[in-house]
Amino acid sequence: MSRLLVSACLMGQKVRYDGQAKTFLHTCLTRWDADGRVVPFCPELAGGLAVPRLPAEIEPERDGADVLAGRAKVVDSAGVDVTAAFVAGARMAVKMAQTQGCTHALLTEASPSCGSTLLYSGHHDGTRRAGFGVTTAALQAAGLAVYAPHQIDALALDCAW
Ligand code: SF4
Repeated sequence: MSRLLVSACLMGQKVRYDGQAKTFLHTCLTRWDADGRVVPFCPELAGGLAVPRLPAEIEPERDGADVLAGRAKVVDSAGVDVTAAFVAGARMAVKMAQTQGCTHALLTEASPSCGSTLLYSGHHDGTRRAGFGVTTAALQAAGLAVYAPHQIDALALDCAW
């Protein structure tokens, strides 16, 4: 039975940069969790960052694949380069997915780690753009199918489930 790697903040864990969760309530997710198919994981904590922490963004016009390839940085709101922690967390997410038998992932949208269709601009100005985060890029490169919360109906219909 395949399992699902899920952003820990979606599962109610208070691991976001501001010390809050981003709890996602959905009957499918509740059922998968009850069936033991959910693996909660926070790549930023796994990479060594603390709660709370300053918000961070991928450089403008770049995405998670660029960060993994060394073509872009992740920078927090004070201008500190936090790329190494994001890359380390992404690598640990892949390891966790592989050791736990995860074939799919459900990740928080717009995060520089977990975003899969949206990112913040990279200018720390509150605007969003199309893009995907560092952990999403690493999981997709490892063969996982990554979904955002608004795509959970498609995830539920995925033939692997
Ligand atoms: S890195 Fe992912 S799991 Fe961790 S707080 Fe950010 S969005 Fe949630």
